[in-house]
Amino acid sequence: MDFDTVVMKFGGSSVADPAKIQHVARRLVEAKQRGLRVVGTVSAMGKTTDGLIDLAHQVSPTPNAREFDMLLSTGERIACALVAMAIHDLGQVAISLTGSQAGILTDGAHMKAKIREIRGDRVKDALDEDKIVLVAGFQGFSRDTMDVTTLGRGGTDATAVALAAALGAACEIYSDVPGVFTADPRIVPNARKLPTISYEEMLEMSASGAKVLMLRAVELARNHGVRIHARSTFSDEEGTWVQEGASMEQPIVSAVTHSENDVVFTLSDIPDRPGVAALIFDVVGSAHVNVDTIIQNVVHGNAEMSFSVPAEDVPATQGALESTRAELGAFTVEENHDLGKVSLIGAGMRSHPGVAAKMFRTLADHGINLQMISTSPIKISCMIARSEIPNAVRELHAAFELENEPFNEA
Ligand code: ADP
Ligand code: ASP
Ligand code: MG
Repeated sequence: MDFDTVVMKFGGSSVADPAKIQHVARRLVEAKQRGLRVVGTVSAMGKTTDGLIDLAHQVSPTPNAREFDMLLSTGERIACALVAMAIHDLGQVAISLTGSQAGILTDGAHMKAKIREIRGDRVKDALDEDKIVLVAGFQGFSRDTMDVTTLGRGGTDATAVALAAALGAACEIYSDVPGVFTADPRIVPNARKLPTISYEEMLEMSASGAKVLMLRAVELARNHGVRIHARSTFSDEEGTWVQEGASMEQPIVSAVTHSENDVVFTLSDIPDRPGVAALIFDVVGSAHVNVDTIIQNVVHGNAEMSFSVPAEDVPATQGALESTRAELGAFTVEENHDLGKVSLIGAGMRSHPGVAAKMFRTLADHGINLQMISTSPIKISCMIARSEIPNAVRELHAAFELENEPFNEA
């Protein structure tokens, strides 16, 4: 399908300094000169967001959520305004808009707000006036609280997809890597760029740590049928198409992913009776914590439960667990911050048993101990020592021969 409008998203490393901002401005202007209506959305420059988070924690150990979002949303505004200035110098007219000015309406969950609706009139009007429109990524506005919200780490990807869906536009996500690879190319130098990948596999990849595309952005893309073209800011080469249906290649395993951001909670001496797990995960879920792997064991009438959460959700998890003590009594809580997760993703796994055995064997052959395992029909994840992650990713990539183009039976 041919689009007359394109949403082009540039990540933090693509706008890290003034020269890169000018480069991004040139790419947006080139698209305009090809006759397209152009919406740019950019992340904060370089590691600005990390710096702001650090600053907040230096001022306050538990920053107020509303003010945290006020602070974090500034990073993207700075980058947007700078790109708009650079575009003016190239002789085109540009306008930068905050998330709320662009009509990005979210729920009220600070730091992980969900986009509910985009009122795109202001963006459309500016496009009709022949302007290049810059929308500050990663942020929106809650109509319930009338406050600025942010969408979670990597959230500009979600801004881009939501804008593309609302405007009926093509969606191009530009980054410092030329697409989605069979593993993080920073860890596996011979990782291979995938020409296409299905939403289903990309969802599992993003959920298990491949930060090249934010999970929520892939969910939005699938729900709204937006094809994402993930590609490089610094070259014109074709990237990876994230789209409906089977990948062009049909390998059993498509990619290895990893995450070094998980913390495992182990609860001991919790009562062994119906409703306990429901209560715990009700409370943890209400605190907006994304729980991943869960294991429960019963030993001598007492249950032990372990589950992993992203590091940023640790304080919320601690608070939620404490609030169950009135009902559950004196259980103990341990936290393990030394684990990471390595996962194999592949739609072909569904019909090919034996992948898990080969994965466990490969890890064992390299002396890597498994702490927890979780599976879905197209994913196997193992929690292992965090220090072993790079090694595990490389060995699994080699064992499943992901550097080679797969042999297609069809
Ligand atoms: P941006 O700042 O453009 O949003 P990110 O840092 O969020 O970029 O995502 C790009 C990074 O994702 C790459 O630099 C790469 O190290 C990492 N990455 C992890 N897994 C993959 C993968 N399978 N394919 C490509 N990149 C990956
Ligand atoms: N700047 C935000 C972050 O670092 C959002 C983004 O990069 O998309 O998470
Ligand atoms: Mg990103």
